[in-house]
Amino acid sequence: MVTKKPRVAIVGAGIAGLAAAHRLHTTNPDLFDLCVIEAGDRIGGRIHTSEFAGERIEMGATWIHGTRGCPIYDIAEKINALDHLRPYESMDGLPTDPITVAEGGAVVDFSILKPISDLYTSLMDTVESGALPAGAGPGVGSFLRRALETFRASRQAPDLSLGGDWTVEAMEDAVFAMKENVFRVHTSADDLDDMDLASETEYREFPGEHISIAKGYSRVIEHLAAEFPPGTIQLGRKVRLVEWCSDGGGASPAPKEGPVRLVLDDRSVVSADHVILTVSLGVLKASLEEEDANSKGWLGFNPGLPSFKRDAIERLGFGVVDKLFMELASGEEGEFPYMEMAFHPGGHVAKIPWWMRRSPSIWPIYGGSRVLLTWFVGKEAAEMERMTEDDIISGLHATLEGFGAHTRVVKRVTRSTWGSDPLFMGSYSYVAVGSSGHDLDLIAEPLPRGGAHDGTAAAPPLQLLFAGEATHRTYYSTTRGAYFSGIREANRLIEAYLNVDVN
Ligand SMILES: Cc1cc2nc3c(=O)[nH]c(=O)nc-3n(C[C@H](O)[C@H](O)[C@H](O)COP(=O)(O)OP(=O)(O)OC[C@H]3O[C@@H](n4cnc5c(N)ncnc54)[C@H](O)[C@@H]3O)c2cc1C
Repeated sequence: MVTKKPRVAIVGAGIAGLAAAHRLHTTNPDLFDLCVIEAGDRIGGRIHTSEFAGERIEMGATWIHGTRGCPIYDIAEKINALDHLRPYESMDGLPTDPITVAEGGAVVDFSILKPISDLYTSLMDTVESGALPAGAGPGVGSFLRRALETFRASRQAPDLSLGGDWTVEAMEDAVFAMKENVFRVHTSADDLDDMDLASETEYREFPGEHISIAKGYSRVIEHLAAEFPPGTIQLGRKVRLVEWCSDGGGASPAPKEGPVRLVLDDRSVVSADHVILTVSLGVLKASLEEEDANSKGWLGFNPGLPSFKRDAIERLGFGVVDKLFMELASGEEGEFPYMEMAFHPGGHVAKIPWWMRRSPSIWPIYGGSRVLLTWFVGKEAAEMERMTEDDIISGLHATLEGFGAHTRVVKRVTRSTWGSDPLFMGSYSYVAVGSSGHDLDLIAEPLPRGGAHDGTAAAPPLQLLFAGEATHRTYYSTTRGAYFSGIREANRLIEAYLNVDVN
């Protein structure tokens, strides 16, 4: 007798979706009838290795934050993706001795740079250790700024002029803001006061080096996708509506097939016993914005998501982080340095546009490369995504000039546009003030809640499972979090069918 295999549809071919599919397939290729539905024209999602000016670059995920125990590192090593065949982005690791230049072009004096850098490092250590002082927070921003004020008060020295409109305190502010802007890049929070300080102590990295992947992050993705039978991954298929069965009858109409039906952009339908949704938190947020979100081409749910899940999606933060690469024209000036930028708090060089003023650095993608990289967050990222390339290049020239690099000529640029891309609507998640790590757990909870075990007759269990970086309590915002979340949801199904504990 041929028995029908349970049908599992995974929405999204990012690392969470592909990790889930890989785990389901490799556990037993005959256990499930599997498909991966991806709206975009490529796999990888927020992992996207590309080329620019003859260099390999990463438009999205770039770093493995700690190698020891990290599954992304283990895969990259196993498939020899860490080999150095040609230079690659961030091959020098995090620069150990960048130069910090103040707006106007002077290198920031070590006597100011060092104490502020030490202060910032000790504050980050405090957050990591969880040993926060009583009354700290609720936002990360106020915690950091109060510490700067305390540092100044303890010094009890008058504010001295450094010439022009720079004083010692203005320079300290500028260096401190540069550090905060690095943190904004790491977390995606536009305003650090919107980041929950207490929850930040739950975020974890693996021990070991921070490295990038020599042959490109996308190699990890290609490896995960390599073993599926042809047709498993379906590109260019956008899910518009998720119809599911919230109870055993009554409130929601029982679908003819399913119990879950995915209605796609072209009105075709994929029915499944289980759907693993891996779309970004930005896409989930947009799905809540209007009852009929799908009339705008966004993802919709019928019935709508229950309030516990909607509230968690609303409360958590999801910001925009973008990368901008620029190619320098060849010239006589020699290597571009690893340059951190300390912008004057009141603006000093009028020509530098506002949208450049919170980028922490401009540096080569590796020592000696003519391709430079700078990062944008929040409002500045949104503005940069909207601008023409010519306007971006003139803003870059004003900035380079304002930092003493006036002889450098930018030939062309390329940039990411994660915020305005409807398939992502942002870059990664953070725990906002008013939410907590528990909200990440709530997003991860399968629907219907309690499944058939909640006494509501026969709502089939495990219809909608949720994976993706915003569903991992300690590794949210990262590739490792997304990977682990995919494995978690695959294991949930495997355990349900094989009645074994696979963790
Ligand atoms: C600029 C940037 C830098 C980063 N740097 C790092 C880093 O250095 N290290 C690190 O660990 N992480 C980094 N990250 C984060 C990391 O890239 C993500 O956390 C991770 O890739 C998310 O994977 P995911 O599978 O959860 O989601 P995604 O990659 O977003 O996958 C979801 C997929 O769903 C698809 N989709 C969306 N809507 C629909 C729909 N309606 N129907 C069908 N498919 C749909 C999307 O096209 C996408 O392919 C960075 C991210 C960005 C943007």
